[in-house]
Amino acid sequence: MTLQTLLHNPAYAGIYAYGRRRVDRRRQDPARPSTGRVVQTRDEWLVMIPDVLPAYITVAQFEANEAKLAANRARAETMGAVRNGPALAAGLGFCGRCGRRMMVRYHTQHSHARPEYVCCRDVTNYGARGVCQLLNAGCVDAFVERQVLAALQPAAVEVSLQAADEVISERAELEKLWQQRLERAEYEADRARRCYHLAEPENRLVVRQLEKEWETALAAQQKLREDHERFTRTSPRVLTAAERQTITTLAGDITGLWHAETTTVTDRKEIARAIIDKVQLTVIGTSERVTATIVWAGGATTPEEIVRPVRSLQQLSYYPELAARIRELAGQGIGASGIADRLEAEGYRPAKGGKRITATTIRDLMWRRLDCPAGRVHRPRPAPPGEEAGPDEWWLKHLAAELDMTTSTLYAWIHRGWITVRRESRWPHRLIAHADQQELAALRERRTRPPGWYSRRLWTDDDSTPTEPDS
Ligand SMILES: [Zn+2]
Repeated sequence: MTLQTLLHNPAYAGIYAYGRRRVDRRRQDPARPSTGRVVQTRDEWLVMIPDVLPAYITVAQFEANEAKLAANRARAETMGAVRNGPALAAGLGFCGRCGRRMMVRYHTQHSHARPEYVCCRDVTNYGARGVCQLLNAGCVDAFVERQVLAALQPAAVEVSLQAADEVISERAELEKLWQQRLERAEYEADRARRCYHLAEPENRLVVRQLEKEWETALAAQQKLREDHERFTRTSPRVLTAAERQTITTLAGDITGLWHAETTTVTDRKEIARAIIDKVQLTVIGTSERVTATIVWAGGATTPEEIVRPVRSLQQLSYYPELAARIRELAGQGIGASGIADRLEAEGYRPAKGGKRITATTIRDLMWRRLDCPAGRVHRPRPAPPGEEAGPDEWWLKHLAAELDMTTSTLYAWIHRGWITVRRESRWPHRLIAHADQQELAALRERRTRPPGWYSRRLWTDDDSTPTEPDS
């Protein structure tokens, strides 16, 4: 604060000014008369007379300082402070659709929080429906990290030389401190000696005291000399070849330093912010494809298309192609796990960013979406003996496929008592539903109703007990 006041004060540049800070009554707290001062811009000063005070710096230097402070402030304001939290590009991400800064949000799932970058200003400010765009932070951070490391590589040699120089100058600095301490000790010892010699021998008590002080000073000086010698032995003023080598290796291994345990997330964020102004992010449609552009501090840009995890295979930009390929492979009589191997070899990636599309996912897709007969090859693990699904009984997965709906909706229906079920006696305690032809028809009929139809009917009934409208 003191430095700020000093740097902003025109008096140091020889300028007399009046009316730089004026009280704004609207901002004043009546109980505290000194509040509400507002710093005015230079055109609003009431009086400004240059060259009337003894100047410490020139007006040009003062103006340069002001400009530099303003630039720093602007940078601090656009970047925001480095916050805690693992998201590397936090505060750097900007929405490519509307240009607003993206927030970091934590999506908690299975008790661990996954950071996401989200543009939701319209939601908070205007109550708009849905977010502008949202994407997993992991893929963005990986891209930013890769680019930052690449940008730092050429600097490695320079860093190593500079580090060596810094070590040397640091040691020189320490040596200077040592010399000062030694000088002081010498002076103290000398003074004690002179006092001792000046004392009248008749004053024995005084002489004895002075002698003791001289001895102490000499002992202190001796100890300091020994300490200095030890210091010089352990860290010589010139770097050894081995020390130079260590520094070069460390500085050359930027990636190693970046990932080192001693490098904190805050360190990494600060490095990223030192060289990156912003990261513009644009999700293409609702697909996995994201255009990410790094705007470097100097204004240069690095655009790249990155891949984000999405919720379902259907969101993938290559879903139509993928579906056609699965159909084709299934048509050749290849089973789900065989198809999974083929797809991995052909470079198809799953929606959520794993290594491969699993056989289960493919089976589910063939069954539910692609209407592949091969999907029906899938048989659930058998029920305990005597509990197998009977003629009009269904595993929930099969019933859901038969009715072309999700199992979660089926569970909701079961919960409401619209489907009769029994549970197998041993793990995993799956449900088996009962539905004969007539019941199936009723369920299909129910399926055609618009969402919310039943709940609305239930609660508008005059009868206080919710009843089935159909019953
Ligand atoms: Zn946006």
